[in-house]
Amino acid sequence: MPGKFFRYQYAEGDIVTMKKQHPCGSKQWEVLSAESEIRFKCCGCGHIAALSRAAAEKATVAVKPSEPKGSPAE
Ligand SMILES: [Zn+2]
Repeated sequence: MPGKFFRYQYAEGDIVTMKKQHPCGSKQWEVLSAESEIRFKCCGCGHIAALSRAAAEKATVAVKPSEPKGSPAE
């Protein structure tokens, strides 16, 4: 789908909910770094994984910013 590249904004400290559950039972991952590759740490077991941005976007259900700021409206 040309023209629509970034579905999600990833930033350090964000909590990302993934489609697939990790073997430890957690679906939530903390963003460690967001560059051409996104590095995640599993919130359940601390496992670290790196995904390309495209793969990360496919696997992501929701991104929750670590510090909500600005307007409370979505
Ligand atoms: Zn885990």
